[in-house]
Amino acid sequence: MNKEQNKNKNKNNDKEQNKKLLLSLVGLLLLLVILIAGIIIYNSYNSKEEENTIAYTDLIKEISYGNIEKVELTTGSRTAKVKFRNEEEEKTAIIPDTEAFVTLIQTKVAEGNEIELIQKPQSFLAQLPSTIFSILPTLIMVALFIMIFKMQGLGEKGKVYDETERKTKVRFDDVAGLEEEKGELKEIVDFLKRPEKYTKMGARVPKGVLLYGKPGTGKTLIAKAIAGEADVPFISMSGSEFIEMFAGLGASRVRKLFEKARKLAPCIVFIDEIDAIGSRRTSNSGAETENNQTLNQLLVEMDGFGTEETIIVLAATNRPEMLDKALLRPGRFDRQITIPNPDLKGRLEILKIHSKDKKLSDDVNLESIAEDTAGFTGAELENILNEAAIVATKNKHDEIENDDIEEAVKKVTVGLEKRERVISDKDKRLTAYHEAGHAVVSQYLPTQTNVKEVSIIPRGVAGGYTMYKSNEDKYYISKTEMQEKLIALLGGRAAEKLVLNDISTGASNDIEVATQIARDMVTKYGMSDTLGPIDFQGKEPYEMQMFGENIGDKIGEEVKTLIDTAYNDAITLLKEHRDKLDEIAETLLQKEKINEQEFNQIFEEA
Ligand code: ADP
Ligand code: MG
Ligand code: ZN
Repeated sequence: MNKEQNKNKNKNNDKEQNKKLLLSLVGLLLLLVILIAGIIIYNSYNSKEEENTIAYTDLIKEISYGNIEKVELTTGSRTAKVKFRNEEEEKTAIIPDTEAFVTLIQTKVAEGNEIELIQKPQSFLAQLPSTIFSILPTLIMVALFIMIFKMQGLGEKGKVYDETERKTKVRFDDVAGLEEEKGELKEIVDFLKRPEKYTKMGARVPKGVLLYGKPGTGKTLIAKAIAGEADVPFISMSGSEFIEMFAGLGASRVRKLFEKARKLAPCIVFIDEIDAIGSRRTSNSGAETENNQTLNQLLVEMDGFGTEETIIVLAATNRPEMLDKALLRPGRFDRQITIPNPDLKGRLEILKIHSKDKKLSDDVNLESIAEDTAGFTGAELENILNEAAIVATKNKHDEIENDDIEEAVKKVTVGLEKRERVISDKDKRLTAYHEAGHAVVSQYLPTQTNVKEVSIIPRGVAGGYTMYKSNEDKYYISKTEMQEKLIALLGGRAAEKLVLNDISTGASNDIEVATQIARDMVTKYGMSDTLGPIDFQGKEPYEMQMFGENIGDKIGEEVKTLIDTAYNDAITLLKEHRDKLDEIAETLLQKEKINEQEFNQIFEEA
């Protein structure tokens, strides 16, 4: 775990740096906005004064007529504020000779004219020469530029890796599962260790390897392991770091990164989130052009280093479809390795690796935890074990018990149980029927897995939840299965409608997931009979046009049909099995939670 902590610390340092930069930038912008606002207000004030001026001769006349109520003079200034009797607004007048003017008013007052004279000391703002206000914006701009350059230097400094950080202690043994992938990458390790062997043979040496996989599947880990196994420096940068800085910086960052790599070669350059800079070069809006420059620089660098430099560029992404095809050409990232979510065996191994430094009770059954966590990534499994340790501490256990891990699984998947949250009886009933709806519908859908637990105890943001037994690891999901998944998802909303004749916001997540599945069915998996097996995802508008003018409408219609059908099926199923729905809901209201056995019992009754 130590190396991981170390890694995190470094990461945090970088993050801290970036955060500081960001904060100072935000502060600067705020200052700028305030100043600009100030200038605008000042100017508008000034212009307003201009509209409301009164000529000196007219002022004297008005004073003689007795129409002036008050005159305000600031020492040293030649503008006076003048208030007319019966008028709200004040006017300003330029006084050619203030002393004479003051004497004039004093005589008028002596004559019985009711006029108030106020003489104010000069304020700070009035002392400023008016030119300062016209050059202020320029001053701010200059200051801003200086700051930007300073920050650029700072950002660069944060990226300097010292010797200790360069070498990593991660080995292939620290990466659980992924046997085939490791096998494929061993060649890279071998090449880094003995490049002569390859160059002598005239073999075209690998340059770039792209790792595809969801976040947390171990892409960074395996990249580090390659560097660790080959005992070469590991230099890394994240694609999002390239683009979050100011214009023009991305490309220079890439150049610097490779400069460093050349000095350290043989080494590994790891570019995380490469999609951030390497997404398709389509339009030329501002941000895109900036990315293009960065991407072009990367391509130039990769084409630039030859066989004499032993540099392997590893890059990771979870959105391969976004990548610019130029990245995948020979001599660039011509090897692509998919890092899948771990299968049952992989999950068990990951759980074993990450429980090594934890005290587990004998009753812990990692096999069954692995079975229950299909679809989980390595990072999530690690997280579960950490959570389990926390849960165990809370429960005052000496060791982590199986229950602690099961609780941690729920905590990670649905959120923390919130027993203390006060819920009205009406909401409870709604939740009970909602969850019962999911559970009952699933029970009658052949492709859906069995219910493991139903609960109306709030957890995280959810008012209740229905947990299913985990799916066998599968590579393919059939259309029928997806359709039935939609029915199960909409079972909650359907039950609310059927029983309470009202619907709630509680189903929002179900709806979100269902919509996504339906959209994928139509646009990604070609499961719509009318639209056929065409990939509509990530297409530009002009690419879509070749499928017909109203293709967007047709896709929408198909998605809607899928959802409507599933919802109606859910209603039908629930009507048919209304007795079970009521029974489950009632039991939930009584016990708050139903486990697998209790659930099955209800269905075994005649
Ligand atoms: P990615 O880069 O794909 O987002 P990471 O490599 O950062 O994922 O993985 C995050 C953490 O999850 C790792 O530090 C490790 O603790 C754990 N992990 C992920 N996959 C594995 C694996 N196959 N074996 C062991 N640990 C793993
Ligand atoms: Mg990563
Ligand atoms: Zn639901």
